[in-house]
Amino acid sequence: MNYEGNIIRPPSEAQSMIIQVTVGCSHNRCTFCGTYKGYSFRIKDMKTIKADIDEASSWGIPFQRAFLTDGDVLILPTKDLIEIIQYIRKKNPRISRIGVYANTKAILKKSLDELKELRDAGLGIVYQGIESGNIDVLRKIKKGAFPHKQRECAEKIIKAGILLSQTVLLGIGGIEKSREHAIDTGKHLGDMSPDYASALTVMLLPNTQLYREYRAGTFRLPDKFGLLEELRLLIEHMNVHRPCLFTSNHASNYLPIRANFPQERDAVLRVLDRIVRNRDDSVLRPEFMRAL
Ligand code: SF4
Repeated sequence: MNYEGNIIRPPSEAQSMIIQVTVGCSHNRCTFCGTYKGYSFRIKDMKTIKADIDEASSWGIPFQRAFLTDGDVLILPTKDLIEIIQYIRKKNPRISRIGVYANTKAILKKSLDELKELRDAGLGIVYQGIESGNIDVLRKIKKGAFPHKQRECAEKIIKAGILLSQTVLLGIGGIEKSREHAIDTGKHLGDMSPDYASALTVMLLPNTQLYREYRAGTFRLPDKFGLLEELRLLIEHMNVHRPCLFTSNHASNYLPIRANFPQERDAVLRVLDRIVRNRDDSVLRPEFMRAL
């Protein structure tokens, strides 16, 4: 496979055929993200992409899903993306769902009709990093997207009939903004009501601006119970209007949660209350097992 640089994918795509379509991320400015630092964003040529699809298709694995990396695949021209999706499906008739990462700018560039065309071709799920619903936090981390634009994206993806999976970052507001970040992010997720919402915990990676801020003492990360309080507050304010599978089972988190909202939300809150009140870390993931 002609993989270049760091190849990452959502945990739910662990069994998927992974095809690298772009290298890096077209934004590449988020202060916490070190995944694509040092790589200039580019779209790979169609010949290389198809050669990788041919190779992965020859392995004899009965893939049912495919995931296209890197950071911002939806920025491809729609016709090229459809060509890639159709080629994957032609070679792998069992593949019924294809997923991509997409940032806000790329989603907004696509018209609703283009998104529907992509859905008809086989684009089944879009993963979007939201990180926070708090405007100051989003500005500070240089996300390049504000809540009203993220909401516009969510509405568009949902309207196009594509599954929407969003991630937010616990701790990204630091101790100073922890409360506002949690409340605004919970409300924001509730407003958007994606099909899937995941809370990850910020990890301080040495090649990032956030790490340098941490070293300089201008960014302070809440401790593990502070992060759980943040999670609790976020969930308390997350009033979804459509069914949403909420997870916090990413390896960066201290407490794995998997619950259907809204019906299981109160039960999750009760568990979090108990752990935070008793400062019970026996159920938490040990520090050495946390990772990205
Ligand atoms: S978090 Fe996403 S949008 Fe931000 S730099 Fe990393 S890959 Fe790009």
